[in-house]
Amino acid sequence: MSKSLNKDSRMECSRHGVKPPAFICKHLQYGVGIGFYEPEYETDPECPFKNAWCAECESFAIEHGGWNDVSDSFAKVMPICEGCYEEIKQRNT
Ligand SMILES: [Zn+2]
Ligand SMILES: [Zn+2]
Repeated sequence: MSKSLNKDSRMECSRHGVKPPAFICKHLQYGVGIGFYEPEYETDPECPFKNAWCAECESFAIEHGGWNDVSDSFAKVMPICEGCYEEIKQRNT
């Protein structure tokens, strides 16, 4: 993730305009109905962005002792805009 990211960070989406960023695993980007998991804990107020991963990443993380370098490199989390995030959520839930 970008080091310059802070709570006021915005990104420009070609479809939704300027939006806060959100983060998804690489599988969700083009996935359909592959599961949609969000963190259960409260988001960090300094980094209040939505993030989600698919069912495959969820079981991978469980098998590998939670979220660490191994599961992170499997998920290859990528930034997208919040508008795209909502669409992806609808498509994969
Ligand atoms: Zn995934
Ligand atoms: Zn978008």
